[in-house]
Formats: sequence, C-alpha cells, structure tokens
Amino acid sequence: MSYIEVKDGSKLSVPSNPTIGYIEGDGIGADISKTTIQVINAALETAYRDERSIEWKKILAGDEAMESTGKHLPQESLDELKQCIVALKGPLTTPIGEGFRSLNVTLRQYFDLYANIRPVRYFPGVPSPVVAPEKVNMVIFRENTEDVYSGIEWRYDSPEAKKLRGFLNTEFGVKLTDDTGIGIKPIGRFKSTRLVRKALQFAVENNRKSVTLVHKGNIMKFTEGAFKEWGYQVAESEFKSKIVREEDYLRDPAAYKDKIVVKDRITDNMFQQVLTRTDEYDVIATTNLNGDYLSDAIAAQVGGIGLAPGGNVGDIHAIFEAVHGTAPKYAGMDVANPTSLLLSGSMMLTYIGWKEASDILERAIMESYKDRKVTQDVARLMNIKPLKCSEFGLEVMKRMTRPQE
Ligand code: NAP
Repeated sequence: MSYIEVKDGSKLSVPSNPTIGYIEGDGIGADISKTTIQVINAALETAYRDERSIEWKKILAGDEAMESTGKHLPQESLDELKQCIVALKGPLTTPIGEGFRSLNVTLRQYFDLYANIRPVRYFPGVPSPVVAPEKVNMVIFRENTEDVYSGIEWRYDSPEAKKLRGFLNTEFGVKLTDDTGIGIKPIGRFKSTRLVRKALQFAVENNRKSVTLVHKGNIMKFTEGAFKEWGYQVAESEFKSKIVREEDYLRDPAAYKDKIVVKDRITDNMFQQVLTRTDEYDVIATTNLNGDYLSDAIAAQVGGIGLAPGGNVGDIHAIFEAVHGTAPKYAGMDVANPTSLLLSGSMMLTYIGWKEASDILERAIMESYKDRKVTQDVARLMNIKPLKCSEFGLEVMKRMTRPQE
C-alpha cells in the first residue's frame, strides 16, 4: 500500500495510487458510499487512464464497528485514519451514551480538523425555493473546534451549575436564578486566526472576490467581536498585499479591483444579505454556531443539504463527508441521493491535487441534473420518474468526458 505522506511538515506528497480511507456510514451510508466509490473510480479512469488510481481502504466506524468490535469508533480505526491522512466519510448515527456526543465531533476533535468547509453553488435544473439560485456561489469556512459546541455546559439542577452560579455571584455580582442552566462559549485568538487564515488562503489561491467575517460581535463583544477583530488582524498582517478592507474599496473600487475585499457582517443581517444581495458574498469565515446555521440556510437556496458537500480540514488531516445524516428510513433501498458524498469526494480529489478528476466529476454531476436524471428527493419536486441511487451513479459516469473530448 502507498500512503500519502507529509513533506516539509505541511505539504502532501501523493503517490499515483494512494491508499485512501473511507467510512461507509450508517443507514443510507452503504448505498451512497458504494455508488460514490464507483463514480470516483470512473472519474479517475477518465482523467488519468491507468496512470493514477485510489486504493480504497474500508475503515470501520458506527453501527458496523459496534457489531464487530463493541465500539462505535475503535482505536484501530483512528490509527488507520491517521495513517491515510485523507478520508471520505458517509453519515454516522449519533450513539447515545458513550461519553461523547457525536462520532463526528469526536473525529473533528481527535484530528484537530478545525475548518469545516462547505462550498455551495447552484446546479441548473435543481428545484430551488428562491428566484435566482444561480447567484449562489459561496464557500463557508466554519470554525469547528470551539464556541458553544465545546460541551462545557451544566444542567440547571447540577452541583456544578449551582457552584458556578455561586462563584459568579460572589466574585462578579452576577445574579442568576436557581433554575438557570449554564453553557460556556470559548472563542480564542489562535483558533479564530487559523480559521480565518485558511479562508483567506483559499480566497487567494482560487481568485475569489471577497472574504466576509460573520459574527454577532455587537452583542457578544469578547467572543464574536474578538473573532472579527482577530480576523481583520490576520488579513492585514499576513495578506496585506492581497486584500483591501471594504471601506477603502468602496471609496475607490477601480483602484482595488484586483484585491480581495475583506468585510464583516453581523449574523442576523447576513441571513438576509445572502437572500437579498446574494452575489455580493463569496468566501465566508465564521464561528461554529453561526456557521452551522448559515451553511444549511445557504444550502437551502440551491436545493437543500442533500446536494451539499463538506470537508473537515486541519493543517494536514482531512475528512470529507456527506452533510446530511443517515436517513434511516431509506437504508438499504438504493434510493438515497449520493450527490453530497460525490461532491465531497470531488473536494477530496482537489485537496490531494487531482483537480482534473474533480472537474470531470463535477461537470458530469451537473450534466445529469441538467438532463433531469435525478433521485427521488429531487424527482418528486420536478414531478418526474426517479432514478435509484446506483442508476444515478451510472448516469453520472455516462456523462464523464475529458475537457478536449
Ligand atoms: P437526515 O439523516 O439527514 O435525514 C433527514 C431527511 O433528509 C430524510 O428523511 C430525507 O428526507 C432527507 N435526506 C437526507 N439525506 C438524504 C439523501 N442522501 N437522499 C435523499 N434524502 C435525504 O437527518 P436526521 O433524520 O435528523 O438524522 C438521522 C441520523 O443521522 C441521526 O442519528 C443523526 O445524528 C445522524 N446525522 C449524522 C450526520 C453526519 O454523520 N455527518 C449529520 C446529520 C445527522 P425525506 O424524509 O423528506 O425524504
């Protein structure tokens, strides 16, 4: 087996037939993973003939792992993921009562996958609830490791909550009633800065027009407000020659036409801006909770999360995953839509530098939607006959061509 290696501490060295891990996933995971792997293999074949391929290594997690090892996420699987560096992941059921809240959160924390990256754009033909979905072309960078998702919270009647209420009262004069549960929202400079840095790097490398810092800093000044301040600081200290602040840009747009505009928006305003001024937003960098809400809301504009890909990316390790869950009622029926996982696979190919295959895959998916070859979730909105998951995969494969063909 040839594994991806890390050179100079941060660069990936990808062999021509890397071993890449995949977690099949629970529920519909088996169906969508099977189709996705077939389709990605076809994209590689179209792009590179037999010069490049992926050796897929199945990594156990979720219900399947529980059955064979007694654990939802055995150490061996974590070790394998570590060795592979890059992996593709189907959806996992959130197990109840194993000392952590979700396998997804565990994976993100274990590998310090601090950026949740969600590209959202419109595929012609897909039914949408908005008038101009084609204006959506955004990439959301959501901080993945802190904020209110850190799990630092106590029930109102716990001894910890009581103690904390007492401490707040005696030390700071903050009076909370006895029926108050308490959660803590940590937002730090290091973690905010590295997330915004990643968003800015992406914007520079992909010639994007703007980076918007989304925050609720008018109310939460020292967490959300600090995120915004640290965001501007990293932009101005590390990307000075590439960026311009919005207020300067607006004074003289022509003078700064080649620069990336860095701006900020308060979260509630941003929710309306993405609907009313859609094409003014491009790359978005935001805190964990804002990003969670905002990414699904933007995905809804182009047809919903069934079509939205995602990647959890750290400095080196990356896990690309379907954004939706296990949809248990469709498990084993071969009817689920594999698009989210397919597009996540496309992000993965770009991440390892195999952009040709990624482009072929995305074009073929787009053509399938244009030709109204779709699974039941989309077909029912179009009032047309649906394809099975595997049939959709075949239609995508039929539409794969090299650019010059
Ligand atoms: P869900 O699995 O995303 O499913 C909700 C509904 O969305 C489905 O009933 C179906 O809608 C539609 N849907 C989702 N994916 C689809 C696909 N690929 N093709 C067609 N339709 C799709 O959300 P949930 O029911 O809230 O969660 C179920 C389990 O998944 C939970 O254990 C949850 O913790 C887990 N989950 C895992 C992840 C992850 O691993 N990243 C993410 C979210 C949730 P219709 O019924 O309208 O057809």
